[in-house]
Amino acid sequence: MYRKAADIIRSAKRLTAFTGAGISVESGIPTFRGRHGLWNRYDPKFLDIHYFLAFPDECWVKIKEIFYDFFGQAKPNAAHYALHELEAMSLLDVVITQNIDNLHQEAGSSTVYEYHGTSRFLVCLECMKRYHVSEVDLVKLPPLCSSCGGILKPDFVFFGEGIPEPANTLSADEADQSDVFILIGTSGKVTPAAYIPHMAKENGARIIEINTEPSAYTDTISDVFLQGRATDVMENLMEAVGRDADNS
Ligand code: NAD
Repeated sequence: MYRKAADIIRSAKRLTAFTGAGISVESGIPTFRGRHGLWNRYDPKFLDIHYFLAFPDECWVKIKEIFYDFFGQAKPNAAHYALHELEAMSLLDVVITQNIDNLHQEAGSSTVYEYHGTSRFLVCLECMKRYHVSEVDLVKLPPLCSSCGGILKPDFVFFGEGIPEPANTLSADEADQSDVFILIGTSGKVTPAAYIPHMAKENGARIIEINTEPSAYTDTISDVFLQGRATDVMENLMEAVGRDADNS
């Protein structure tokens, strides 16, 4: 299976990686859903935009605890670095990620479409001014805009919000143009993100999937399913791609 996946990668004209929460699990960031998911410990309502607007103080206490005190410490793992390596080898064109943790960029990937936005920036709900998280004091909550006094919100998609541009359009374009998609650590249950690999398949792309367990894609659109942890599978896959390249 690794040989087949490596052949597909090396013969791709345009290769896109589409990543989900599973790629960051080995960096210490849990998924939201599933047995060890965050939603077993927290009520997801604090990420509902309407609830946030009504109770920003209460929501910010949870947001700070999870996304800044805890996630903020995470570092990229071997799977994030492998994607950067594929880009450096001119084999990978784009990463589309549903994650908000900035770990692809920290690993060195340069073309990353953040489909659900990012936790690294905050945005003022009044004047839309954006702040890097390092510019904002998260001691007194909720954090306020230094220009207009409006409440700041993490610049990622809350329940009830739309997908940000240009990531939305650029991701759809990739589904049009790429002839190979590698899916890593995504369940295929979160829409509309989950439609992107289906769109790619409809446009003729071949699909390589990496996951610890079968997903909504495995028996529907995946051409190659590599079961295992993202770090282990990506390391094996890189060896197969590299070894094959050495022999050719
Ligand atoms: P999901 O929680 O629905 O699914 C995660 C998938 O990863 C599952 O299919 C699971 O089997 C797989 N997985 C778990 N551990 C793995 C590992 N070590 N290696 C490979 N695969 C593994 O995640 P999703 O499909 O990405 O959607 C959930 C939503 O939650 C997304 O919108 C995402 O933005 C958000 N989210 C983001 C982060 C983050 O930024 N790191 C973390 C949690 C959730």
